[in-house]
Formats: sequence, structure tokens, C-alpha cells
Amino acid sequence: MVSDSYDYIIVGAGSAGCVLADRLTRSGRHSVLLLEAGGSDARFWVKVPVGYAVNYANPALNWGYHTEADEGLSGRASYWPRGRVVGGCSSINAMAYMRGMRHDFDDWAAAGATGWDWDAVHETYRIMEEPGGGPVRVGDLSDQMHPFSGRFLDAARQAGHPPSDDLNAADGIGYYRSTVWRGRRWSAADAFLRPALRRRNLRMVTHAHVTQLEFNGRRATGLTYDHKGATRTVHARQEVILSAGAINSPQILQLSGIGPADLLRRHGIAPRMDLPKVGQGLQDHLAITHQFTTDRRTLNHGLGRRRGRIAAGIRYVLTRKGPLAVPVNQVGGFVRSAPQVERPDIQLFCNPASYEITTDGAVVMDRAGGFILSGQPCRPTSRGAVRIRSADHRDAPMIDANSLGTEYDRQAAIRASRLVRQLSASPALASVTTAPKDDRFPAMNDDDLLQDFRDRAATVYHPTCTCRMGTDAANSVTDPRLRVHGVAGLRVVDASAFPNITSGNTNAPVMMLAMRAADMILQDAR
Ligand SMILES: Cc1cc2nc3c(=O)[nH]c(=O)nc-3n(C[C@H](O)[C@H](O)[C@H](O)COP(=O)(O)OP(=O)(O)OC[C@H]3O[C@@H](n4cnc5c(N)ncnc54)[C@H](O)[C@@H]3O)c2cc1C
Repeated sequence: MVSDSYDYIIVGAGSAGCVLADRLTRSGRHSVLLLEAGGSDARFWVKVPVGYAVNYANPALNWGYHTEADEGLSGRASYWPRGRVVGGCSSINAMAYMRGMRHDFDDWAAAGATGWDWDAVHETYRIMEEPGGGPVRVGDLSDQMHPFSGRFLDAARQAGHPPSDDLNAADGIGYYRSTVWRGRRWSAADAFLRPALRRRNLRMVTHAHVTQLEFNGRRATGLTYDHKGATRTVHARQEVILSAGAINSPQILQLSGIGPADLLRRHGIAPRMDLPKVGQGLQDHLAITHQFTTDRRTLNHGLGRRRGRIAAGIRYVLTRKGPLAVPVNQVGGFVRSAPQVERPDIQLFCNPASYEITTDGAVVMDRAGGFILSGQPCRPTSRGAVRIRSADHRDAPMIDANSLGTEYDRQAAIRASRLVRQLSASPALASVTTAPKDDRFPAMNDDDLLQDFRDRAATVYHPTCTCRMGTDAANSVTDPRLRVHGVAGLRVVDASAFPNITSGNTNAPVMMLAMRAADMILQDAR
């Protein structure tokens, strides 16, 4: 039966929303409505791991945001894909599984997110990942990596970086673990939502674009959404939970009158709650990528040629193995950019493939041998902002990334580039490299490296922190139980709530955060 009243309404069936939909419906005691702006994830290229490259710019699956001109990146406006599909970004991401480091979470707690230190969160990761029992499948695909990837491990050892058998247990360089199971992407929807949808107390509506929250005084009582041309209003008896991601959750709050009062007034929205940090605090990871040609065989020899793609396709269909079953980031990890640096401060990615991305987002692999090395500063300190462009929910919000806004970040950019160069010069890679694609790279000084980073570095698609957890309304948006300050019945549970970005990829910490948030929501049930 279609009801217009539920105990909980979750906005967004992304990484966090799928976790919540599962956890809040388990007991059978609560009715839950899950609203997702996108459509079904039952698509071939969503499920095939290498389909990442196909989905990257597909508007059917993607909000396809662009930042404003970013002064720190030579005035470039960057493309920021965001999943608009069941599973959210976990249905279009690159599947690298990375918990983040102990100090990332200790820093959360220090920033006011009491109870989110490493000692508190690591048990949640263990439960989530438990082999055989946990919902999240973390695949060790090292036996399927391209033979060229072994060279990256040799090169790392020669460059002085320790090997790591499991990047979630120890820093260093090793094979990436991925959310891939039996040759298929294992998204948050596969892990959490699919089993939950069998329950009668969960209803999901896709193509449902939430436009505004409804209130009774300072209590959120429901929301309005557009669905197939009609506007619908639904009521939440307990809570509305925003899990619309780091761009859309602050957008929905601002459209609903919760945000910086001056911004809201500028767009003709009466402030319901002046919360200056809504949308503020944005953090993201940037990576610089260098490509090299080699006389050895790399993935290009298979996937860069039609015949190779057909062979890989047949192998995949018959065995669920081979190049289509393995994400392209094969080797990497966390390293120190200098021996005296206290903690790993740069993440490296090494891909046994090289390619160009066309202006319309298509990934075109090179035909001859090539490989890619990327360096990404782990913990940028710059903070940007997400602000509504107008009071119209159809207008994409303005994303001010404020990249390289601090001296720390500019120095980290140089260190990341130097590390990539050092790795490329190690005997294991230098002996098989015919040339860097940019022949100026070997001789660049620090100024050149910074300029190169400004001209070419790209997002690694990890926007976070736009509705930060913290202690009070002056420095954050939610309290440590993810409740929006000053508003009853409303939480933000997604990447927005991170107090600071974690050192690595963000999907695992988002799912962990949502697992813990669900416990809190159930404990607080009225
Ligand atoms: C291309 C790409 C590659 C990435 N690679 C990796 C990787 O390899 N490893 C990793 O750990 N992380 C990776 N990430 C990041 C990671 O996937 C995200 O940090 C994480 O999925 C974010 O989860 P979330 O729940 O905060 O938001 P999302 O997963 O984005 O979910 C938000 C959901 O809300 C929906 N929504 C938004 N607005 C509305 C609205 N108004 N009404 C209704 N629904 C709405 C969206 O459609 C979406 O489904 C990648 C991300 C991208 C885009």
C-alpha cells in the first residue's frame, strides 16, 4: 500500500542511504521510505568493474557537476561526477576500498566529533567487512592483476617505500583491495539495499527528486519531492535523514532555509535556522597524473585494441575473470614524502595502462604500451564551499573548490609530484620506460611542478565535510550524533558529515559512518 507517512525518510540511495535503509528496517519495527533521484543500477556497465570508464560521464547515471573557475587550478572549472543512480557514487566509483588511517578519525574526535576516534570506529569496519558474514565484500584481486603491476611493487621497494600486504592494515605500497565480488562491482546497493528491499517495511522510490524539507516550527516533519512530473509530500513520524551526498545534502538544507542567513536571503529564501557552516568546509583530494610509454606489454595491448577487447569480453563472460573484472587502479598505497614526515602524507596510484580522456569524457586507451603514476596529497587543509545558485532546486549548486588554498597544500602538491618522479626513476620502471609523455617532467623544478599541478591536477572525486559534525552551530552543522543543530527530527548522514577528509578513498568511511549513525538513530527513537 502506498502510504504518505513513514517512521523514517531517507534522502538518497547512495553509499550511506543504502546502509541506513538496511539497518533501520532490520527489526521490522520501523517503516522507511528511501527516495532516490536516479534510476536502477541494473546495468551491465555498472556491474562490470572496468565499466567505471564507461560510466564516468554518462548523464543517465550522473549529476555531472562542474566546479566554478578554480583559481588554485589555473582558473579551470573541474568536472565532478556524482552518482545519480541506485547505489549513488558506489555504483560508479573506482571500487578502491580504503578505511582511512587511525589519525584521520582521531582528528575527527579532536574536531568535536566525540566518539568517532579510531578506537571507536574500527570495530564497525570489522563487522562491516567480516569475511563470510559482513555485508561489504572486499576483494583481494592480486592474483588477477596485470603482470606489469608487479613492476610497480619492485619500483616502490627500490624507491624506499615499504611493501604492504593489506593497505587497510599497514601503510606502504601494495595491491589495492576493491569492492569487487566474483567479478562484479559490489556496491553499497549490493551489500545493504538489495537484501533490505525484500522487507515489507522498506519502500524505495526511484526518480524521486527531493526539493525541500517540511517543518513544524523547529522540527522537520517531512519533505516534498518531484516524481514523474508530480509533486508529492510525505511525512516522517520520527526523522528525515539526508544522505544525498556532499554536494546535494547542503543544497537541500539551504533550499529549505537552513544555512548561512545572508546566502539564503540573497536568493529570497527566509532563513528558518541560521547555520553559517552549511555548505562550508568542503574538502576533496586532488591527484597529479603522469603517463609513460613502455616497450613492455601493458593493459593497453588488450583493452586498447578491438581484438583484445573482444577476447577480454569472452573471458569475462565465461569466467568472470580477466582485465574486465579488475579495477584499473591496481597498485598503490600510502607513503611518506620525506623520512622525517611523521605520517604517510601522499597516496600513490599505479595503473598498468595509459589513456586520454576526451572533452566529452570518453576514456580512450593508448594502443602501444603505457602506464600511469599518480600522486595525491592525503590530507589537504584548504576548504571550499557549496552554495545554492538560486532558489530553484533544478539549478546545480555552485562548487567553490578553493584548491591549493593553503601553503601546506601547495607544498604537498610539489611533494606528490616529486614522489611520482622518484618512483618513475627507479630501475624497475626506468629500465622499461621509453619516455614520459611530457618530456619536460624529468627536469622540472619545484615552481614548474607546482604550475604543472595547477594546470593538470584533477579531483579524485572525494568531496566531503560540507555539513561537518562538531560541537556547536558556530563551527559545524551537526552534533556527533549527526543531528542538525537547532532542528529536531533531522540528520545528515553521508560524506558531508566528515569533520575532515580521510587520507584515502572515501567510500568505506562513508559506509562505516552510516552503520554507526543507524545505531544512534535507533537508540534515539522516540
Ligand atoms: C567517479 C568516482 C570514483 C570514485 N572512486 C572511489 C574509489 O575508488 N574508492 C572509494 O572509496 N571512493 C571512491 N569515490 C568516492 C565514494 O564513492 C563516495 O565518497 C561515496 O560513495 C559517497 O557516498 P555518499 O553516501 O556520501 O553519497 P552518494 O553515494 O553520492 O549518494 C548520494 C545519493 O543521493 C542521491 N540524491 C542527491 N540529491 C538528491 C535529491 N535531491 N533527491 C533524491 N536523491 C538525491 C544521489 O542521486 C545519490 O544516489 C569515487 C567517486 C566517484 C564519483
